[in-house]
Amino acid sequence: MDDHDERGGFAQARRHMVDHQIRARGVHDERVLRAMERVPRERFVPIEARAQAYLDRPLPIGSGQTISQPYMVATMLDVLGCEPEMTALEIGAGSGYQAALLGELCREVWAVEIVEALAVRAEAALEALGYANVHIVVGDGTQGLPEHAPYDRIIVAAGAPAVPEPLQEQLADGGRLVIPVGSRMSQCLVVIDRDGDRFVQRESTPCVFVPLVGRHGWKEHL
Ligand code: SAH
Repeated sequence: MDDHDERGGFAQARRHMVDHQIRARGVHDERVLRAMERVPRERFVPIEARAQAYLDRPLPIGSGQTISQPYMVATMLDVLGCEPEMTALEIGAGSGYQAALLGELCREVWAVEIVEALAVRAEAALEALGYANVHIVVGDGTQGLPEHAPYDRIIVAAGAPAVPEPLQEQLADGGRLVIPVGSRMSQCLVVIDRDGDRFVQRESTPCVFVPLVGRHGWKEHL
């Protein structure tokens, strides 16, 4: 905990967030809860919004995008079920907050962001906090990131019209993909487990994410 943290009361706000927004709503994965107690969310929001960093809602991060609600991030990570030796791919790095959490939960993380300005800021925030195992890449994540595939875990932080084929292909055997699928306005978290050539799919929580654009996403520009 650094001085800034102490002065701003951020550490206390963070513990409060974990207890009241996350644990109280039924997320019990201890590794996810501990990671959320560690990652300083205020470092991933614009400076003028730092006081709101621990509110129970998404916040604007520029370029028309948002950092997701803490509870939604926790729910996705709970469903994703990471282990320390795993590799993970995140599509839609945005602020880099969820990528930092993945960095706490996995061995190596690649996070793709299509908006370059956001990628630059996410990378700076991660570097300042010393997340050497998290790598931000600029590009269209609907095509995955073949150069480091396969991945044990793939998580998509934007709403897709359908599951992009390349993401399934880049999943390791025994791996898991979590992705919001639905309309532009509302989606459902879809969980896909790979077992050899079989992909077992189930639906989890209803959710609302910004659109996943790109070749295997929504066709419109941002
Ligand atoms: N995980 C982020 C929240 C991301 S919001 C966080 O912790 O802050 C969703 C992000 O997905 C936005 O930043 C948006 O620009 C990005 N995005 C949308 N389509 C994408 C695509 N095809 N590839 C990569 N990123 C994409």
